[in-house]
Amino acid sequence: MAINEVLKALKGAFPTAQVVLPGTDAFTALNTSYLSKAQADLQPRAIFLPRDRDDVIKFIRVIGPYTLQGSVKFAVRGAGQQPALGCNNVDDGITVDLRNLTGILLKDNDATVSIGAGERWGEVYSKLQEKGLAVTGSRSGMGGIGGLALSGGLSFFSTREGFITDNVTNFEVVLASGEVINANANKNTDLFVSLRGGGNNFAIVTRYDMRTFKQGKFWGGAVFYFPNSFPSQVEAYVKELKDPEATNETHIMLGAGYSATFAQISEIMCMNQVYYTREVESPPILDPFVNMQPQLDHMRSVRMLDLVDAAKEQASQGSSTSRVSYINTTVKADVPTLMAAYETYVNALGPLKAIEGLTTSFTLQAYPKSLLAMTESAGGNSLGIDPLEGPLMSILLLSFWQNKEDDDKIHSTFKSVIEAVDQDAATRGTAVSYKYMNYAAPFQDPINSYGKESKAKLQATSKKYDPEGLFQKGVSGGWKLLG
Ligand SMILES: Cc1cc2nc3c(=O)[nH]c(=O)nc-3n(C[C@H](O)[C@H](O)[C@H](O)COP(=O)(O)OP(=O)(O)OC[C@H]3O[C@@H](n4cnc5c(N)ncnc54)[C@H](O)[C@@H]3O)c2cc1C
Repeated sequence: MAINEVLKALKGAFPTAQVVLPGTDAFTALNTSYLSKAQADLQPRAIFLPRDRDDVIKFIRVIGPYTLQGSVKFAVRGAGQQPALGCNNVDDGITVDLRNLTGILLKDNDATVSIGAGERWGEVYSKLQEKGLAVTGSRSGMGGIGGLALSGGLSFFSTREGFITDNVTNFEVVLASGEVINANANKNTDLFVSLRGGGNNFAIVTRYDMRTFKQGKFWGGAVFYFPNSFPSQVEAYVKELKDPEATNETHIMLGAGYSATFAQISEIMCMNQVYYTREVESPPILDPFVNMQPQLDHMRSVRMLDLVDAAKEQASQGSSTSRVSYINTTVKADVPTLMAAYETYVNALGPLKAIEGLTTSFTLQAYPKSLLAMTESAGGNSLGIDPLEGPLMSILLLSFWQNKEDDDKIHSTFKSVIEAVDQDAATRGTAVSYKYMNYAAPFQDPINSYGKESKAKLQATSKKYDPEGLFQKGVSGGWKLLG
């Protein structure tokens, strides 16, 4: 079988420790180190650990011919924090785990930071913070760079600094041919724009260069409260987004959800995560989002933070001991649409509450006009969002649970909720096609959601840089361009 030949070739080409085989402790540790424990349902025939870019080149050259014959699949993994099953792991194939491609280097007089593809945001923040700098990256220090730098992404600073992907100034990649090229505003610009939203469709990225900016402490944290206040929170959020004078220093997420832990206090608990990204204590603009009553005072964490603290606090909400799913949609920032979406979500929860270990949430995160407007000056991306449609709202349904038997119930319930939300928004004239790849369920189609024009450009980029379709045929996980 071709996979056996690939394994033999990899074992011949690399030291034993880099080709980790099932049945070893090292394999078990790696294959169970994803955010969602469901990824470990997939059993690769080997996990390959490149030490550097040259190893990635060698790997692509070894596996390429077998993959192009259609018989051997591989997966590319950053930090493994995206839960969509199979987007970063593969059954019966080879998983390339980039964790050892480390390195964080300031350059261009500290205007840019070069980040190895195996880094996590927390490491990047620690290094930059020593110099009073930051980048726009995941709110969770545990998150890997690739999942967000290749898909869009919101950060603490995105109202002011734009999408995470729009802040990547250069991608160093290994193409299907094994050639290393850089994609930026001057070189291979079609690939540069395509990678900003195109996921794992074109190459293995080995390094990201990102724009840095000065950043001091900032104000923010979480507030827990009860659902009778949620409608007024949604109203305040939309009002703020639509205010032509709105500051670009706020970052607000409104969440409501169910967890057995809180069920004795309230069936639904709400949580706002709010930030004002300058060193200003209790900024009045955040008052509506932190002062609602009643609230759980003992859980309130709003305070002066630095980026490292803030990213640690968010990372503590991640778990690798549960099965995890994300599903999302986008609508216009419209109160009746958002409230209808919330009601649809809450009404669907009843039959799920008995599921062991269930924690689920409905989270609203804005794409403010200021963020959407920055894409063009940053050189463009492939998300296909018309900035004139803004402000927009991302609706994310996030779930954690324990057992595989409950997968179908969770997936089908939340698929129906998202479909109903989209249908309702369509009747109100507030529907938006865009689905965020990083929050997409495996059965969603973010690439199609970018629109025909953007998809056609992505396909043209694939034909140019990967003419034989290695990343289309070989990398089965993620969202492909040819469907
Ligand atoms: C507590 C918590 C907080 C979070 N905060 C945020 C947030 O602030 N903003 C936000 O937008 N999301 C956030 N997320 C979502 C999370 O960060 C992501 O799901 C993200 O995708 C993780 O990136 P990763 O590199 O670990 O991805 P992985 O799971 O390793 O990979 C994701 C996808 O990218 C591809 N990929 C990764 N690296 C490469 C590469 N080098 N070359 C080619 N393809 C590659 C993979 O093949 C895969 O398809 C959060 C999640 C949690 C649990």
